[in-house]
Amino acid sequence: MELQFYGATERVTGSCHILRVNGFTVLLDCGLIQGSPVDEAINKKPFPFEPAMIDAVVLSHGHIDHSGRLPYLVKQGFRGAVYTQQATVDLCRILLLDSASLAERDAEYRRKHPLTRHDHHAEPLYTREDVVRSLRTLIGLSYHEKREILPGITIRFSDAGHILGSALVELWLKEDGLARKVVFSGDVGQYGSPILNDPETIERADAVILESTYGDRLHRDIKLTLAEIGEIIRSASTGHGNIIIPAFSIGRSQELLYLFGLYYDEWELDRWQVYLDSPMAIEASRIYWDYPELHDKEAVALRHDKKMMPRLKNLHFTARVEQSQAINAIKSGAIIIAGSGMCNGGRILHHLKHHIQRPECCLLMTGFQAEGTLGRSIVNGDMEVVIHGRSYPVKATVHTIGGLSAHGDQNDLLRWMSRFESDPEVFVVHGDEPVKKIFRSALEEHLGLKATIPKPGEIISF
Ligand SMILES: [Zn+2]
Ligand SMILES: [Zn+2]
Repeated sequence: MELQFYGATERVTGSCHILRVNGFTVLLDCGLIQGSPVDEAINKKPFPFEPAMIDAVVLSHGHIDHSGRLPYLVKQGFRGAVYTQQATVDLCRILLLDSASLAERDAEYRRKHPLTRHDHHAEPLYTREDVVRSLRTLIGLSYHEKREILPGITIRFSDAGHILGSALVELWLKEDGLARKVVFSGDVGQYGSPILNDPETIERADAVILESTYGDRLHRDIKLTLAEIGEIIRSASTGHGNIIIPAFSIGRSQELLYLFGLYYDEWELDRWQVYLDSPMAIEASRIYWDYPELHDKEAVALRHDKKMMPRLKNLHFTARVEQSQAINAIKSGAIIIAGSGMCNGGRILHHLKHHIQRPECCLLMTGFQAEGTLGRSIVNGDMEVVIHGRSYPVKATVHTIGGLSAHGDQNDLLRWMSRFESDPEVFVVHGDEPVKKIFRSALEEHLGLKATIPKPGEIISF
């Protein structure tokens, strides 16, 4: 049996590894590469294997950098099943359809405004139809349900606490009397984060494939972070301006609504009207509240209290365009949550145009802002930003909140790894190059584990 590293080795995104056991080939994740146009062009290149020869895919969670190349795999001839947690099946529907819509719009734009000869025939990586076909291959399992997916390959998912449905994957492998256990971390969440449970403990493995996104740093303490958000909202004056919050549709939007419900009185939220202005975030929220069995104790208690979540009297879902546009007329007393989280598209741009030059308004930046995005310029304190080709002075107060993250920090990752009693060999993936090195040293130093940073294409035989 062997394990071959393929995606999320040279870069953070594009998670995908290949397991060969008993003559069967299984992919762990099939994620999209996200980043610069040069990086993203790799998505259209052929896979280093024949998709029709892949027997199954095991998908850790719904994020596009883990799931986003599945429709392409199906388009290229994959006919097997994709095993994942049940909630991930639901989230994949909205995430993958959105990914296809973006790709279709982008291809259309390039055909209309070609920069190269190839652009005249620009085609999306996959279409919404391809997505519908690929969704039929998804098989949802519950956490802790053990399933033999192929002879000699048995899997079980545990809660990774990263986004709804995110899984730590245990794989029991058998070949010619040899038995090995591999654990694939997918993405590991923060301990103590809102709504979701902490990453579950796994005690045994021969090898662990481990993400390292924030393996070099520590997040701000979550309690201090919450106190900070509360202080900002309490001290913002409802009489004059609005609060604008760019947020990722899946995860961060639901966390914010949940926190608003939890701290409704403390944060004096009855002075405000809250708008969730994102069709995708609205759909994702419904899926989140549909899975109370996946929520942590605090979230369950809040839900039982009011029979629904979030318990906000003043929450408005504005899915339709007219509803969204109507928000523009509100000059004060509104908290507006909209996507995209990094302000590189979506409805948040319209709200920023209306509010960024108003000193009485405030922008609450709660998420990661990648280099080159509008969100990053705002966080960097640029005095002027460009939105839809026009320049706007930044006069609103900008607050950057550091402590909310779907990923665990170095302490979280070490804490999760410290629970293993079997001293597994660790393969560090899903991180920037310098981060992986720092994290490898931390694993060796603090836990005495043997850790390797695999190269793309590298094969490990068991
Ligand atoms: Zn993720
Ligand atoms: Zn990821």
